[in-house]
Amino acid sequence: MSEYEKIDNQFPKARFSIQIRLDDLDKVIIDKDIAFIKYDACCYYQNKPLTKIYMCKNPSGNITVRDLINCLIKNRFKTNCGHVFLEQFTIDNDSTIVPFFGS
Ligand SMILES: [Zn+2]
Repeated sequence: MSEYEKIDNQFPKARFSIQIRLDDLDKVIIDKDIAFIKYDACCYYQNKPLTKIYMCKNPSGNITVRDLINCLIKNRFKTNCGHVFLEQFTIDNDSTIVPFFGS
C-alpha cells in the first residue's frame, strides 16, 4: 500500500485528496486550543467570491495537521474546482490557518 493510500484509509470521508506526508500528520501547526481555517476560492473564474471559515479545536492546546484535516472533513468541505489536492497548511495570522489546494 502506498503512503497516500494509507492516508486515504485514515480519512475515508475526505472530499478532497490529501497530499501531505504521513510523518507530517501529527505535526503541530499552532499551539492554541482554537484556530480558524480560512479558505478563499482559489480560481479567478469562479463567478461569485467564496470565503469559508471553520473553527477547529483541540483541548490539548496544540492543533495538528490531523486536527485541521478532521475539521475540514467534519464540515464536509470540498473545493468547487479542480484544486482538490490538499498540499499544506500555512499560518495566516495569529490564529488563522490557510489550506493550500493544488491541482
Ligand atoms: Zn481552484
